[in-house]
Parts: sequence; structure tokens; C-alpha cells
Amino acid sequence: MRMILLGPPGAGKGTQAAVLSATLKIPHISTGDIFRANIKGGTPLGLLAKSYIDSGKLVPDDVTVDIVANRLKEEDCASGFIMDGFPRTVPQAVMFDEMLAKPGKKVEVVINITVEDSIIVKRLSGRRMCSCGRTYHIDNNPPKVEEICDFCNSSLYIRDDDKEETIKERLKTYHEQTSPLVDYYQEKGLIMNFDGSKPIDVTTREILDSLKNKLIDFED
Ligand code: ADP
Ligand code: ADP
Ligand code: ZN
Repeated sequence: MRMILLGPPGAGKGTQAAVLSATLKIPHISTGDIFRANIKGGTPLGLLAKSYIDSGKLVPDDVTVDIVANRLKEEDCASGFIMDGFPRTVPQAVMFDEMLAKPGKKVEVVINITVEDSIIVKRLSGRRMCSCGRTYHIDNNPPKVEEICDFCNSSLYIRDDDKEETIKERLKTYHEQTSPLVDYYQEKGLIMNFDGSKPIDVTTREILDSLKNKLIDFED
């Protein structure tokens, strides 16, 4: 299944992607995670991405699309993927469609998770990340052992861009540059809407049920 998760920062894309990836057995691809791994590794890409990320702006389209194109060449993407945080602009979406069309493929489902801006600051301020891609929240979704990942035992960390000023800038970026993608995919008949303010497991259940209703086959 070729799936995109769309929604503002803090909607729960990463949280849902991790569960959906395990259930549907397709890779979870987060452009944000790829950028953060490059920042940590001190690569030229990391250096370039950091200035944009720290100011709540988007990394340029050509750079971002290139990274996705390379990631999709890997074998694990043959039967599908869950894109988390990509595309984030209309030009990225157009280039992504072109990229997939070359081998005769296309985006099949766009899961749009919505949450009001007022909830988002609280969510992102309590967010804790693991380098393995799992995401926690100190109150809403705490790890079993404080500050340690349940899945890989690594120490959790706080993202540099999860502070209030940057969160506000990221929300502005979302409304200006990313939210037009809802219409873009709506016109293609691909959007499925979910209320991301419900508890995590409720949203997961609703997504899996809707996928089943669309007659997408998988073992739950
Ligand atoms: P995104 O990838 O869309 O930015 P995350 O999945 O990282 O969002 O979630 C942002 C924060 O909110 C995390 O700390 C996560 O644990 C928490 N969170 C995610 N979904 C929910 C939910 N449905 N209810 C409460 N908190 C949530
Ligand atoms: P969140 O889901 O919390 O908004 P992500 O981890 O998806 O955060 O992204 C973190 C940052 O990485 C973004 O604020 C942006 O600067 C950059 N980024 C991630 N994905 C893209 C993309 N598709 N295009 C441009 N920049 C991106
Ligand atoms: Zn982990």
C-alpha cells in the first residue's frame, strides 16, 4: 500500500505511522527523521537542513524530493510505504506523483489527521523522541521506564524545534504551504479524514477500520 500521512506538526503522524507500519508491514518513511539522522551524523545534508528546521521553515523542495527518491529505491519499499511528513508542499506532491508514475505506480491513500492549533503546543512541548523512530509524550504516551524507549532501550531526547517560538512558526508554515495539499489530494479522491484529538489507540482503530472498509487487505 502506498500511503501518505498528512497533518499539522503534532497531529500524531509519527505515532500512527509507527503502529501502521508494524501492522501493515510496510516501511515508515519520515523525512524529518532522515534530516535529524543527518544532522546527528554531521553530513552536508544535515548542515543544510538544520538552519531551516531550527527556524521552523521547510527544507527546499529539490533537496527533499531527492532524498525521498533515493529512499524509495531501497528494496523494502517494493510493496509500499507510509510517508510521514512528505510531501509538504504542492510542488513536492507534483514531483512525487511524477516519480511514482515512472514505474507505473501512484499514491493510493492519504490519511489526513487534524488537530486544532491550541492543542498542538501542549503536545509538542511534552514530546520525547527516540532515534529508532518511536515517539512518546510525558503525559499522553509515556514510556514504561522514564526517558527510555520501550522498543530499543535508547535514551529519549527532546527535539530542538519543539520549543514554543519554533512551534508557532511551524504551524504558520503548515497553514501556508502544507494545508493546500488537502485540496490537492481531495481532488484525486484520496483523502480520508481523522480527528487526531481522540486518544491514540482510538485513532489507530479508526484508521485501520477505514482501510478495511476500502477493501485494502491486511492481517490485523
Ligand atoms: P507528528 O508526527 O504529527 O508531529 P507525533 O506523532 O510526534 O506528531 O505526536 C506529537 C506528540 O503528541 C507526541 O508527544 C505524541 O506522543 C503525542 N500524541 C500523538 N497522538 C496523540 C493523541 N491522539 N493524543 C494525545 N497525544 C498524542
Ligand atoms: P513534525 O511532524 O513534528 O512537523 P517532522 O519531523 O516531520 O516534524 O519535520 C521536522 C522538520 O523537518 C520540519 O519542520 C521541516 O523543517 C523539515 N521537513 C520535514 N519534512 C519536510 C518536507 N517534506 N519538506 C521540507 N521540509 C521538511
Ligand atoms: Zn527506540
